[in-house]
Amino acid sequence: MNRKEFLQRSLAGAAVVAASAAPIDLMAGCAPKGKKGGKAELRLSFQEGIAPGGSLDEKFDYMEKLGVVGFEPHGGNLAKRVNEIQQALKNRNIKVSAICAGFGGFILAEDPAVKAQFDSTMRDIVAAAGELGSTGVIMVPAFNGQKPCRPHTLETREFLCEQMHDLGEYALKCGTTVILEPLNRREAHYMRQVGDAAAICRDSKSAGVKCMGDFWHMQEETSDYAAFMAAGPEYLQHVHVASRGRRIMPGEDGEKDNYIDGMRALKEMNYPYYVSFECGSDGPREQTVPAAVELLRAQWKKA
Ligand code: MG
Repeated sequence: MNRKEFLQRSLAGAAVVAASAAPIDLMAGCAPKGKKGGKAELRLSFQEGIAPGGSLDEKFDYMEKLGVVGFEPHGGNLAKRVNEIQQALKNRNIKVSAICAGFGGFILAEDPAVKAQFDSTMRDIVAAAGELGSTGVIMVPAFNGQKPCRPHTLETREFLCEQMHDLGEYALKCGTTVILEPLNRREAHYMRQVGDAAAICRDSKSAGVKCMGDFWHMQEETSDYAAFMAAGPEYLQHVHVASRGRRIMPGEDGEKDNYIDGMRALKEMNYPYYVSFECGSDGPREQTVPAAVELLRAQWKKA
């Protein structure tokens, strides 16, 4: 291309940009409705250890008083707990959110026996998750300590996508999904950012493969907003929350516990799933839990 052609093409391109930018008021009508005055709600969920109380009933009473609408049980032994959980949730305004792992073995295990253990225990949990109406079963491809592990190569990624495809299709048949959780590098090198997990979802080519973000592990991200947006409504299925200094109750680490940037993304995409507490507590739970709920609601309003 000579200079004259280049200039002509550039000017034509500029005209197209100008024309497409003109009806900006009309285009605003297509903006995500969650942005201002939209319908996005903050649906809070607790893992089993968060609420004070000795039994599920006591915990659910406590959660209902706080307006917490989701419950995230651990996946261990889940098939045997379906009835117990269903009974305890009867006539309550709480639903099962995601299921937190609980399987044996791991998907990237080099040892076929360990991989087989993952396949069978994970499928049992997925089936139970479907019975409970869960949004999905959370999984990590491999923790740093899990060895021998397939090497971090292109072939391994292809293998993971194929395996996730099959698992996702199985989950869909059970009425649920599988949710990939990126961790920080201290816990897992393999998948550390929400956008990376979302790309694995896309390449797995199954609507049953989803991902999540955990505000604790998202110390790997340069922007909470961009991280959630990279997954977007197509792939983002769950969110974990904890304080951002010591992984205790949101608010216990003071100024560090700012979730507004990420919440802004959730609001803009009309995120319909749960923000679930996965954390410890420094102070007594009777004080730290209600304070954390209040803090998250206040930040959601500001976002
Ligand atoms: Mg987590």
